[in-house]
Amino acid sequence: MKFRLLSALLIITHAATAKEGMWIPSLLNVVYSDMQSQGLQLTAEDLYDANGSSLKDAIVLFGGGCTGEIVSNDGLLFTNHHCGFDYIQYHSSLKNDYLRDGFWAKSRSEELRCDGLSVVFVVRMDDVTEAMRKGITATMSPTEVDALLQKNKKALEEKYKKENPLLGLQLKAFNYGNQYLAILTKSYNDVRLVGAPPSEIGKFGGDTDNWVWPRHTGDFSVFRIYADANNEPAKYSDKNVPFHPAHHLPINIGGVKEGDFSMVYGFPGRTEHLLTSYAVDFITNQLNPMRIDMRDQTIAVLEGRMRASDEIRIKYAAKQSDVANAWKKWKGQQIGLTNFRALEQKRAFEEQYAAQCLKPEFRAYAQVLPKLKSLYNDVNHLNFETQLFAEYMYYGPELFNFSYRFHELIENYDTLQAKGKLAATLEELKQGARAFYKDFDLETEMAIYKRLQPLHDVKYNKRGAADSKQAASLPLDYMKSVFSDSTALFKLLAKPGKGMIKKLKADPFYAAANAMTTDYNARLRPQVGDYNKQIDYWMQKYTEGMMKMFPGNYWADANSTLRISYGKVDGSYPRDGEHYTPHTTADGILQKYYTGNPDFAISSKLKSLLEARNYGTYGSNGELNVCYTGSNHTTGGNSGSPALNAKGELTGINFDRSWESTMSDIMYNPEICRNIMVDIRYVLWVIDVYADADYLLNEMTIVR
Ligand code: ASP
Repeated sequence: MKFRLLSALLIITHAATAKEGMWIPSLLNVVYSDMQSQGLQLTAEDLYDANGSSLKDAIVLFGGGCTGEIVSNDGLLFTNHHCGFDYIQYHSSLKNDYLRDGFWAKSRSEELRCDGLSVVFVVRMDDVTEAMRKGITATMSPTEVDALLQKNKKALEEKYKKENPLLGLQLKAFNYGNQYLAILTKSYNDVRLVGAPPSEIGKFGGDTDNWVWPRHTGDFSVFRIYADANNEPAKYSDKNVPFHPAHHLPINIGGVKEGDFSMVYGFPGRTEHLLTSYAVDFITNQLNPMRIDMRDQTIAVLEGRMRASDEIRIKYAAKQSDVANAWKKWKGQQIGLTNFRALEQKRAFEEQYAAQCLKPEFRAYAQVLPKLKSLYNDVNHLNFETQLFAEYMYYGPELFNFSYRFHELIENYDTLQAKGKLAATLEELKQGARAFYKDFDLETEMAIYKRLQPLHDVKYNKRGAADSKQAASLPLDYMKSVFSDSTALFKLLAKPGKGMIKKLKADPFYAAANAMTTDYNARLRPQVGDYNKQIDYWMQKYTEGMMKMFPGNYWADANSTLRISYGKVDGSYPRDGEHYTPHTTADGILQKYYTGNPDFAISSKLKSLLEARNYGTYGSNGELNVCYTGSNHTTGGNSGSPALNAKGELTGINFDRSWESTMSDIMYNPEICRNIMVDIRYVLWVIDVYADADYLLNEMTIVR
């Protein structure tokens, strides 16, 4: 295994290497020649052009947290199965079990409407750093700087809104406010489900394989964007027509091989590669262990109950994925950061930083690290409590969060009535309640609560703060809660009045959720907010100092804005004595199936197609490639992103990283960190050979 020496890494981790980094497409000049030398055959304008069509016009932010890419002139879109999962689940029932059996619309009229789903295009990105930082001087306090930034932001927003009334606008800080971009966007809200493979393909490997290489998951789903007659955004209507993009991606089924240029274009959500050791220490030694412990409990309950009953499996499928995804990532992150000695590296870098501050030209930065150290020291216990609250309220038992939806009704009943809004509020709550109970099982809920409540209380009491009152510490009785029983709740809601409000207010779960949320809103949130403002102020200076002391190509942390990562199709050496090849084949699906692990269960249909090696036109050298890895720096949010070759053709869909790579949100290790993509040949094989939905291929541009 090729481990670099610690000392050699000190600078490398801060001045980006060729493969590390998520680059802003409108500012590619810093890496463009490197991309070319690695094999890219496109111009910078082919990748991003604010005035003509370019690759960016085929890329969308999908559903707020994933990426999707357009693959036909009629708005057909690929993303991951796990990104479309909520919608596939929403349309699934015991009768039409699309999760288990898959779904393929045979014609456009069968495509399924997905309320609440939107896709966002980036129209243009402008650098507005100067306008945002106008008037800020080195001697201003954090509060003064914050006030001026707010003022400048408001002025910019007004200007942009006036000039572009029909477009969305995001004003985003990069590199802790050393750079700002104004991003103009266009959102489409009529997006329909066209196809999804069954879970035996789309979720093959389940939690056993999530974040794992070697991988054999066909993690994709297919949607279509609709627009009005002028190709403009419109809310759902029968009259809408397929959207015509300025660019759609050609699909190359020639295959990829080790060493080929590879890039991923999408919306990475969040990385934190410039954090100080004080923050990394908190994350690895306090925060991650707490979150992992909490989710261990919920997952243990869900796994047992979902395995025992199909009904529970369908009801809890989305919740289980939500809870397990980050849980397993944090576990991998812990291992990676420990093995890579991240904390030592951060500390060693900070020593170098402090040494630079002794030089007259950098003396202005001498206070930065001591300030950050003391701020983290003060805020950590508040962050711990905040995250513990989030784990308990949103990722454990569901009645806290569900009952709290009635907060507005309970607290403002008279006002709602006086304003004539009571009936509408009640109706909305009832609608939400129907959707909630569709996926709710009281026994599962109670089992989760029983395991989580004592653990939560132990952690809460040990959190190291003496200034708050225990909230929701007594075991609550589900039999005394009206929210445990949908019939009782609907009966109560059918008779609005003071009696109803009194009963809802006294409900043990509502009361506990209300106490916890009030404590969070009144005490935790404002304090954490104040600290964060100060931390942002010092992080801006820290980063500015770093860029001056150690000049290099700095990439800005991911912040859900459009980025390009590039590298090669590449395997890795995750541990001493182990080598990961860069691709997997369909034989691996059968090998995993034969282990008998239920996460690898497949139907006789899939099994016989694979055993017969019926690969259609998608195999090569007698193999069907399923997934591959690359040295493209990616993170959450890159799920569903197109994996592109040197010509900008689609060769895969990004969906994950290997477990050893999950540390790359905090520290990228070029030897180990690899993203995982489903090979586009496997995607098309599933559509064409497995699902007989080959009519969809007619509208794609396929390069053979
Ligand atoms: N699996 C991730 C996602 O859901 C992708 C990643 O973190 O690599 O966005």
